[in-house]
Amino acid sequence: MKHVNVRWNPVTQQWFCIKCGRTSDQANVDAAFEQLDPYECHVPAVEAPRAEPGTETVGLMKKPY
Ligand SMILES: [Zn+2]
Repeated sequence: MKHVNVRWNPVTQQWFCIKCGRTSDQANVDAAFEQLDPYECHVPAVEAPRAEPGTETVGLMKKPY
């Protein structure tokens, strides 16, 4: 089988491959393997850019008096 790291996600009630991220909503893991097997298990070559909330302004200086 190609997807060796298939886990159950109790939140979405789906099997998912932790390597390539494919999911299957089959009832058992054997059926999930069957569904995922035609697909290649490769990590999507997409660089996930970190969503940083802009540049924070840290120049605020409070004067206590
Ligand atoms: Zn996979």
